Amino acid sequence: MKTQFLFLAFLMVLFGCKNESQTSSEEKNITTKQNEFAIIIHGGAGTILKKNMSDEKEAAYRTKLEEAIKVGHAILKNGGTSQEAVVKTIQVMEESPLFNAGKGAVFTNSGTNELDASFMDGKTLNAGAVAGVKDVKSPIELAVKVMTDSDHVMLSGDGASIFAKEKGLEIVDPSYFYTERRFKSLQRIKEKEKTELDHDDKTAAFYDADIKNSKFGTVGCVALDKNGNIAAGTSTGGMTNKRWGRIGDAPIIGSGTYANNLTCGVSSTGWGEYFIRSQVAYDISAQMEYQQKTLKEATTDVIHNKLTKLGGTGGVVALDKNGNMSFEFNTAGMYRASMNDKGELTVKIYKE
Ligand code: ASP
Repeated sequence: MKTQFLFLAFLMVLFGCKNESQTSSEEKNITTKQNEFAIIIHGGAGTILKKNMSDEKEAAYRTKLEEAIKVGHAILKNGGTSQEAVVKTIQVMEESPLFNAGKGAVFTNSGTNELDASFMDGKTLNAGAVAGVKDVKSPIELAVKVMTDSDHVMLSGDGASIFAKEKGLEIVDPSYFYTERRFKSLQRIKEKEKTELDHDDKTAAFYDADIKNSKFGTVGCVALDKNGNIAAGTSTGGMTNKRWGRIGDAPIIGSGTYANNLTCGVSSTGWGEYFIRSQVAYDISAQMEYQQKTLKEATTDVIHNKLTKLGGTGGVVALDKNGNMSFEFNTAGMYRASMNDKGELTVKIYKE
């Protein structure tokens, strides 16, 4: 009897210890600082396949992603704020014709470029956003100005431009945003819409990829600075051939962008309508706050379970208060990069 009791006690101690060590390794992710500062970016998700990509094009994307993230990383390393890191990093991508944001933005049905952007500060939960802007060089800068210099969270169209002028932001002729590649995409999509021509297989596949990708290409960034402040921002031209003043998720706080120092920061890219309906960015933060999920668990559930079940496509980059980072997407690829406090850089495009 005494031996049985001792054996039982031994088992209880054994399992007790095991549970404790399991819990502590799961909690490690949530409670231990992985990085004192860190930065993560995306340049859009979509039907990005190696077989459709030339070596030069791939190299151009990789180089620009690296250039952009290094700008933000240097700011963080030197003790700068996550806000500054996010804005400066996104501006590199806004100025590059490679991405669907700023110069290189996609075209609306009427042949204009209408830009959306948003920014959120995880410390104060302050936020700013703009939608349907046609002549402001840096929509992300304008989104931050809305946050810092107005009583509002979101401004749109001509009103947003008037505000930008009053605040001395750089105004450009709308032709600044023009790129031949995006203009041709619009023409192809319109042609496809008008006529269901009998294309040969190769052309059909090309048209198909173009139409699928017409919904993608946004840029976004999340940063954690040395003071523990998280900031997130997103900037886009929206979807090719959009009409009726369509606005996607990118300027919607909680869908395209969210940041909270208690949980994480998120920037989304994908088919905006689904991201709005799923409240993707806020849902990730909420799952961490209310269900004590890790960043990885929350991003996985929101993208691969909830968004996918709804029929949505796209992805997120996210970064939590301890510097854990997560890329999650359900498309063929997502232009993305991350850099930690040790300066370790990751640049990826396809699923790997
Ligand atoms: N989410 C953006 C939108 O729907 C598009 C994108 O991410 O590429 O406007």
